[in-house]
Amino acid sequence: MEFKEVTLVIRRQQNSTAGYDSFPVKVTPGLTVLEALILIQENQDPTLSFRYSCRGAVCGACAMMINNEIKLACRTQIRYLNAAKVKVEPLPNLPVIKDLVVEMTEFWEKYKYVKPWLQPKDEHPATERLMDEKLRVKLDPYANCILCASCYGACPVPARSGTRSFLGPAALARNFRFYADSREGGRFERLERVNSMDGLWGCDTVFKCVDFCPKDVRPTHGIVNSRKKLITGKLLRK
Ligand code: SF4
Repeated sequence: MEFKEVTLVIRRQQNSTAGYDSFPVKVTPGLTVLEALILIQENQDPTLSFRYSCRGAVCGACAMMINNEIKLACRTQIRYLNAAKVKVEPLPNLPVIKDLVVEMTEFWEKYKYVKPWLQPKDEHPATERLMDEKLRVKLDPYANCILCASCYGACPVPARSGTRSFLGPAALARNFRFYADSREGGRFERLERVNSMDGLWGCDTVFKCVDFCPKDVRPTHGIVNSRKKLITGKLLRK
């Protein structure tokens, strides 16, 4: 059934006051949840707060809960939700600043912890550092991460009491991406740094991050592959 008008039921929060507000929105062809939020902000409630930038599924800023699933608002067309009511809520597992805007510091700090950059073996090579083509194809999915934190929001581990120090899927996937890079100089140190319950061993391997990643990064595979390397000891000191 195609709906000509839907109601967006949006989680509102300011300081300790929280609740839901409803807004009617006319459904035009191709209208996305992000566009609906912009229309509401322009025509119904200028105080509605949400984060966005590129509108093209590249910046990762508009990840949020839409009808109980984590999605990028910019690439979620309302007609395909096939529902008269569209519930919109902030990304789970991160503190809410206001309405749909979450505080990302925790996510960034954990990402920074894994040193998400290449630490080359040689500081000043005579020629360009080339990557083997087969390896590039293998690592490409990890490089597609747009840091939207959808995986972090979907992960059951930070939500559990006492496990907020878990690094999370995006950081651990990025760590594997550089661990597996043949040009990386600190491979052993990379795995040792996350060889803990806050790191690789804290993951429940329930694949929620894989289910909700909008870029098919598959963080659990990076975590499991890293664990295998630690268990077998293969490649650690090469
Ligand atoms: Fe987003 Fe996927 Fe990157 Fe997680 S791994 S931050 S879900 S793009």
